[in-house]
Amino acid sequence: MARSDPEVEVAILGAGVAGIAAARALAAAGRGCVVLEAKDRVGGRAFACTTLGAVFDHGATWLHQARENPLAAHIGPHVDHDTLRERHLHLGARFATAEELAEYWRAHQAFEAALAAAPLTPDRAVSEAAPRGGPWEATIAHWLGSQINAAELCRISLEDYVKTGLEGPNLLPREGVGGLVARLARGLPIRLGHAVTRLDWRGPGVVLEGPWGALRARRAIVTASTGVLAAGGLRFVPELPPEVAEAIHGLPMGLLTKFAFRLARDVGVAPFHSARRAVSAEAPQPMSWIIRPFGEPIVFGFVGGARAWALLREGPAATEAAARADFAAMFGEGALGEGLVTRWGDDPCFLGSYSHARPGHHASRALLARPLGEGRLLFAGEATHSRFAGTVAGAWLSGEAAGGFCAADSPRR
Ligand SMILES: Cc1cc2nc3c(=O)[nH]c(=O)nc-3n(C[C@H](O)[C@H](O)[C@H](O)COP(=O)(O)OP(=O)(O)OC[C@H]3O[C@@H](n4cnc5c(N)ncnc54)[C@H](O)[C@@H]3O)c2cc1C
Repeated sequence: MARSDPEVEVAILGAGVAGIAAARALAAAGRGCVVLEAKDRVGGRAFACTTLGAVFDHGATWLHQARENPLAAHIGPHVDHDTLRERHLHLGARFATAEELAEYWRAHQAFEAALAAAPLTPDRAVSEAAPRGGPWEATIAHWLGSQINAAELCRISLEDYVKTGLEGPNLLPREGVGGLVARLARGLPIRLGHAVTRLDWRGPGVVLEGPWGALRARRAIVTASTGVLAAGGLRFVPELPPEVAEAIHGLPMGLLTKFAFRLARDVGVAPFHSARRAVSAEAPQPMSWIIRPFGEPIVFGFVGGARAWALLREGPAATEAAARADFAAMFGEGALGEGLVTRWGDDPCFLGSYSHARPGHHASRALLARPLGEGRLLFAGEATHSRFAGTVAGAWLSGEAAGGFCAADSPRR
């Protein structure tokens, strides 16, 4: 039996960034909403903890393109990482010299310029338009694919890649992106531990059901990841139209696994430095590291794409061992103490880290963002944003837009 909650105009599925932004937009417009969140915490893929004695974001780390990033307006103490970060590129037996690094960055710029200039029609994989054969190309492709987009360039639509490209400034909040997002959720009507398993949108309103009971509302905003939507654990009645199901299929989740370690000894680099290995026969899919953020005695790193999925299958101990070996190849044994490894790929609330569009599916984001059932059912979340997909900025803007749509489209009671 659906609980009758006459003041609930909008039920929001998910208290991640998009759900929080939608709830705030509705609250600002004086509209009622309830946010149903499966987990026992808010933030979704923006989540920080202090398990290792320093703030560590399990998910989102940077506010990219800060001048256009809506979350930058809410940031507390932070650094502009680009102004502090010195980059170390390890070449197998030593770090690159300043000249080699300059050469690498020139090749990087040329690589990105080639992609930006490539014809977008017909759509194809990024790798088909990417420069090949130079000494740095494999390292650049690995960085831009697996490490930044959480999927290899051969899996990603060129048009989507170009249209969702990001620039700096890249801000690092002292409280973590997770801390910032949790702060923005305070006071919102969020019900934790409320997994939704069935959403009936036949009308006139919607009914959301789960092990906790049922909730009737006029409209629903669904912010679950495309990984969750594709897995089918959330049943829609009636089923989603075929073009919407196809759009979800066109926006699969990549995987970026993050890990953090306490530093057991000094590794001789200043706070905020980044270090990674060039692609080589010994390191075909290397990881990336940030050392001593905010001067804290920790390092964090990440590995994405196919290697992240393979390590996920092998288990957290294998991921941790691989991460230790990657770091030791640059800084020697014994530098890392206690560590922790994230598992976004097999957490049923996410099933991946963030979405990319398959080649040929660049239009899927806009399609997924269209209201269904005369505006009773809306999708929001990073995957639905055509410009800032894959980021907290895209999630926030999409949630704000969905909340704004519901507020504008409903007569005030
Ligand atoms: C490792 C990693 C690194 C990242 N780095 C960055 C970065 O540096 N900068 C950046 O901008 N972005 C980054 N991102 C991406 C960013 O975190 C996401 O784009 C953004 O947080 C997505 O927010 P969302 O609201 O769309 O989705 P989510 O955060 O997935 O929110 C959806 C919510 O719905 C809940 N939910 C799911 N299913 C159900 C259900 N059936 N019933 C009820 N609730 C449900 C989930 O628990 C979740 O809380 C990163 C992500 C990861 C994982």
